[in-house]
Amino acid sequence: MIILDLEWNRGYDKKPIDEILQIGAVKIDRLGGPIVDSFNAYIKPVIHAKMDVGARKLPQLDDYRELGTTFPRAMKAFRAWCGEETEFASWGGDDRRAIEQNCKYYRLPILEMPTFHDLQRAYCHAVGADGQQVALWRAVDYHGIPDIYDYHDALCDAMYTALVCRCLLPEDLAWKPVKVKRGRRNITFSSQPFPKQPRRRIGPFASAADGASDRAARKPVCPLCGEVSSVSRWSYDSKCKPGQQVYYAPFRCDNHGYFLTRITMSQGEDGQWWGRVTVPSLSEETVRQYTHIQRCEELVCKAAPGTRRRRRHRRGKNKKATEE
Ligand SMILES: [Zn+2]
Repeated sequence: MIILDLEWNRGYDKKPIDEILQIGAVKIDRLGGPIVDSFNAYIKPVIHAKMDVGARKLPQLDDYRELGTTFPRAMKAFRAWCGEETEFASWGGDDRRAIEQNCKYYRLPILEMPTFHDLQRAYCHAVGADGQQVALWRAVDYHGIPDIYDYHDALCDAMYTALVCRCLLPEDLAWKPVKVKRGRRNITFSSQPFPKQPRRRIGPFASAADGASDRAARKPVCPLCGEVSSVSRWSYDSKCKPGQQVYYAPFRCDNHGYFLTRITMSQGEDGQWWGRVTVPSLSEETVRQYTHIQRCEELVCKAAPGTRRRRRHRRGKNKKATEE
């Protein structure tokens, strides 16, 4: 198995490429086995004029600039080193995408990686942290592996990955997350007529989603008795017309059953978003629109109960926002 790691720079321009600056890799006979060979290539940055925040902190940045070769040359050497190997792995799934992207950019054939394991996913499964993205340095720390080498040097990270993943079993590699089906509860809405409800104005917000996540939008009241309810997820259709977004969510009153609440967000000329929140009458038209939107996207409010806020610790890392 080849465990690889890359460092790259996204830059700040419009060229849609994560320019690879280093390819690091180690070969192992099997998970848990010793490292039998290693590969390292520095690549001189030539695509983006500027280094992004993460890339500026890469420990080998000067080496890429001074000792780096071209991506096509590095890739040629890497292919030769990989030989007939068919099993590849990396910490997270981004490296594979970045290699493909860079190969395409240089019109090189894609590196065949018939089997590719996301070791971060397998590791998180093994330690009972399914669905989380444990950072490599945390895993190294957890296992008491001495961190005497630089993180974010691709070769060192590949080596750390091999060491951390010694504990993995074949079933950890084979594990795949179960895709959670979006709930399509069949809700029976209240059939009692109610007076036309006011449309409250909310805003301004930087985005439509900010408006939907705002407290002011998430507390609909029963149109019959005024009981305050709460909403934590909205359905919406991202293919709405530009500058407009409509969100729907069902809510429940303990006395009167289910109703719908709706936010209509519109973007002003200054780019800010304003919204109108209401409890629409449950006309056929409203229910038809909701039924359509319910099959589209779901927005989980930022501070909704049961969702965790993720803090991003940027320990001088490039790339992997995934390495959280
Ligand atoms: Zn009520």
